Amino acid sequence: MSKVLVSEFAVAGKEVQRTYAIHGGLIPPFTMTCNGERYIMPGWYKLKANEATPDIKDIAYYPYKPKKANQPNLPNIKSNKVYKVKSSKGNSFYEVQLNTSGSLECSCPGYGFRRKCRHVTELMQTSI
Ligand SMILES: [Zn+2]
Repeated sequence: MSKVLVSEFAVAGKEVQRTYAIHGGLIPPFTMTCNGERYIMPGWYKLKANEATPDIKDIAYYPYKPKKANQPNLPNIKSNKVYKVKSSKGNSFYEVQLNTSGSLECSCPGYGFRRKCRHVTELMQTSI
């Protein structure tokens, strides 16, 4: 579930600054008042009476990212290697490689459009 993290840092000669960060939220942060108490949402962080209501733009937001359940297991694909896969016409090659989130990306226009293409499929099939 979402969690509000508060960090404080002191700047010489100034008041202690507080920063807020929402981790795992499904909705962007906002502040609200409920029964006379102020909260940062989502996460139900109750602001103390002496705490200023933060600006929404000052609240960092790290949305909840579901893990892909059916992520293909690619034990034979090296993360630092660029694989060249022949185009369907056979006269050029597209570059397929693992991106930082662990899925394959292709340089062909079809991948850019649909986020999948036969080059990625082909590489996966030949790598299992
Ligand atoms: Zn492709």
